[in-house]
Amino acid sequence: MAKKHLIWNERYECMPDSKKKELQLERLKLLVSRVYDKVAPYKAKMDAAGIAPKDIKKLEDIAKLPFTTKEDLAANYPFGMFAVPMKKIIRIHSSSGTTGKPKVAGYTKNDIKMWADVMARTLTCGNTTKNDVVQNAYGYGLFTGGLGAHYGVEKIGATVVPISGGNTKRQILVMKDFGVTKMCCTPSYCLFLSEALREAGLEPGRDIKLNTAFLGAEPWTRELREQVEKNISIDAIDIYGLTEVIGPGVSSECMEKVGLHIFDDNFYPEVVDPDTQQPLPLGEKGELVFTTLTKEAFPVVRYRTRDITRLIPEKCACGRTHIRMERLTGRTDDMLIIRGVNVYPSQIESVIVQIPGLEPHYQILVDRQGAMDMLEVWIEVSPGIFTDNIKGLEKLEKRIRGEMESVLGIGVKLKLVEPKAIQRSEGKAQRIIDRRTVYDK
Ligand SMILES: [Zn+2]
Repeated sequence: MAKKHLIWNERYECMPDSKKKELQLERLKLLVSRVYDKVAPYKAKMDAAGIAPKDIKKLEDIAKLPFTTKEDLAANYPFGMFAVPMKKIIRIHSSSGTTGKPKVAGYTKNDIKMWADVMARTLTCGNTTKNDVVQNAYGYGLFTGGLGAHYGVEKIGATVVPISGGNTKRQILVMKDFGVTKMCCTPSYCLFLSEALREAGLEPGRDIKLNTAFLGAEPWTRELREQVEKNISIDAIDIYGLTEVIGPGVSSECMEKVGLHIFDDNFYPEVVDPDTQQPLPLGEKGELVFTTLTKEAFPVVRYRTRDITRLIPEKCACGRTHIRMERLTGRTDDMLIIRGVNVYPSQIESVIVQIPGLEPHYQILVDRQGAMDMLEVWIEVSPGIFTDNIKGLEKLEKRIRGEMESVLGIGVKLKLVEPKAIQRSEGKAQRIIDRRTVYDK
């Protein structure tokens, strides 16, 4: 049966390619002139590279422009990259800054309008209409998730329930009593909640009306999606964004769930080789780079996201012409280098969710013994597995270790723990504990 595809803003979401390229070029030219005139760090970098706004004549000329990195943002913290005076800025958001200085974003009135539009597109990608009741369990506050999703729901005219994160009992109560049909939260919290719903004996379709969840703010695997969708019979839609670009609303899966449509009339994507920094041919995997074509307060030019993905040039069955990016397999920031080998948490997760008897709750511990990096993975086993069957447990351990070592290419220490032994997160999951940094300071 053909899937149903609602579209929020057909004029931009289904724009023919040639017309979109014209629009992108026109917007790029304006952007480059504006940051050159208004943002000192951009002028300095462009002058050093010997490039002026007039050198941007076609879209490909974007590759002549210098990159912007999170180090640039840190050096100009908090407001040094803003392109408008503070009196034009009506809101500030910021990242948590767990790995260095927080990234600070400012928004003008028009920026907030554009953000609401791209979030309305995102929510409509999962067929949200004004008849829906949307439980927004993203954190409200400096974090972009809460208010970002909130304005998108209101723009559509659906009903927003601004519950914010945490307090699972209340989340369940609200979901049931308010007739919630759509939900926004992190994938790890959705998994947690789906289990809590199952444990409470609440049946989807009978006791709760939830049919779709919009999950973002952390990378998650295909297998985790299958688990959530199976637990509570919903569609789990992957959404993507980052504070430096706008917040959530940069790209979203449609109901086809094959890659995320980038709202590329506003956010121009490139994929570059993370080592040589050269643009890669369309369709090749590398580091995702964004230029914000329409943002006023805090535009970014060729911002290096550290996220690794590829662009999908083929047309999507939903009718949108927005180019798609493949689901993220990892962020270069999340990558661990262990004994010289690159290890992504998603590789570990993909092994865990495929082995029966294991729960998708795990923690990765990295430590150093002498000069040697040690990788240890704690995994919860499913209820009923922890019996007196020592032989069975040994067999399970052997299988996990074997599969992990073949995927990662290095030895792994394992610890199987009882159900619920790993602390549950009500926000972003704390998957990695890297103790090596203690020694490096
Ligand atoms: Zn699509």
